[in-house]
Amino acid sequence: MREYKYQYIDGQWREGTGSHMLENRNPYTGELLYTYRSASTADVDAAYAAAARAQKEWAKTSPHEKQGMLEKLAQAVEELREDAYECLITEGGSTRPKADFEVATCIEFIKRAMNFPLMMNGKIMPSNIPGKENFIYREPKGVICVIAPWNVPMLLAMRSVAPAIATGNAVVLKPATDTPGSAFLLAEAFDRAGFPPGLFNVIAGRGCDIGDYIVEHPVPSLISFTGSTEVGRRVGALAGGKIKDVSLELGGNNVMIVLPDADIKEAAKAAVFGAFFHQGQVCMALNRIIACKEIYDAFIQKLVEIAGALKVGDPADPETFIGPIINSQQADKIEKVVRDTIAAGAKVALEGRREGNLIYPWILVDCTNDMPAARQEIFGPAVCIIKANDEDEAVRIANDTEYGLSGSVFTGDLFHGIQVARQVHTGMIHVNDQSINDEPHVMFGGEKCSGVGRFNDQWVVDKFTTEKWVSIQSCYRAFS
Ligand code: NAD
Repeated sequence: MREYKYQYIDGQWREGTGSHMLENRNPYTGELLYTYRSASTADVDAAYAAAARAQKEWAKTSPHEKQGMLEKLAQAVEELREDAYECLITEGGSTRPKADFEVATCIEFIKRAMNFPLMMNGKIMPSNIPGKENFIYREPKGVICVIAPWNVPMLLAMRSVAPAIATGNAVVLKPATDTPGSAFLLAEAFDRAGFPPGLFNVIAGRGCDIGDYIVEHPVPSLISFTGSTEVGRRVGALAGGKIKDVSLELGGNNVMIVLPDADIKEAAKAAVFGAFFHQGQVCMALNRIIACKEIYDAFIQKLVEIAGALKVGDPADPETFIGPIINSQQADKIEKVVRDTIAAGAKVALEGRREGNLIYPWILVDCTNDMPAARQEIFGPAVCIIKANDEDEAVRIANDTEYGLSGSVFTGDLFHGIQVARQVHTGMIHVNDQSINDEPHVMFGGEKCSGVGRFNDQWVVDKFTTEKWVSIQSCYRAFS
């Protein structure tokens, strides 16, 4: 795997000047991949200063120039595709299908962003003042700080980075400490594509050391944060204190409702993907499945049959569906939630087990919505099944959570499925599909504690830009 031991600031690879050496480890083997020195607050200052300078010139380039550079960026990521797979698998524990999906979607995000420079439309507005003409211009926000999580590190960084750059902004990206390599690989792609120095910077360090400083810094006008609700709350509060805009894409406790007329086999196949893809470490992963009493037993039987056959093991093996959890602390956390839920009365329909950072799939049944695994985001290969007496009860249980990211409804009647889906308080929900969906041209975002703001296409163009009113007087006004 490529070793990235330097920070990427102002178009240069520089050793960090922080006080800690940080380790990048393979979560499957435990092997130490490399160590690097963390970024300091002085590095953060340098990255923001470079970004502020570069942004002024970049904002003046034509849409055509921006599109051309984004095209080169997509090509550079394409050239680095094999390195990206290796990085996502080796440092992030991604399985090959997940790495494939991540790199392909990352490139798609860049290509989609090529439209954005021509989507920065303004308005001409009428005026009640004689001789006045009102123009509303859409301008870049300036410098955008992007904070990314470890679970889908390259794609979730690019989901903010590409639109930010396309709309005339500069970026300082802070990756999660478990997955710095995937962010530095993006820096390498920017470098190869020939972007102006300073337009895109990557600074890696622990959130607890430099996180607050990055957020409260006077330069960025928008903090685009993707991560847990707990840290998102803090980021939102700090940014609010400085009157900065935020985009918060946070945790989920996603639900699938299986109605009595659903195709049980299709629902079970979808549920296994939704609960266990990338070891359940996806914000949109299924945490809870609420099955109506008529099909409850049959559904569980099918679910156990399919999940029990999943291959667990080496993420580099193309047959593996469940690879390692990102680190041992996270694996301990998942095990604790499962054990606490069993202690609270849940039954085990499929028993998982632990081998190092591998956790085999768990299916917990006869759960109630107050049990730990039903209340918390599990973020691991475990799912709880809850029985509902009828559809109304299923919807009530689905909504009894602080989260509202994604969801799913399985039914034999698609139009009825839409009616049920609209009653579930989430930003996204899919009928006869599982909860993990992200298409670069379709709106993405959550409700309640799952976040603030919407991604993709016009939604992200609007979020990453600001509007400015300029008026002209074609004749002088009479002020007295
Ligand atoms: P996390 O909140 O622990 O960390 C996210 C990022 O925030 C990391 O880069 C981390 O270093 C940084 N950070 C930590 N403390 C900080 C601080 N004080 N100030 C600024 N930054 C700080 O999340 P994670 O464990 O990396 O990711 C998993 C979580 O992310 C899950 O809850 C998951 O649901 C959520 N997530 C949400 C989405 C979405 O689109 N809604 C997508 C992926 C992941």
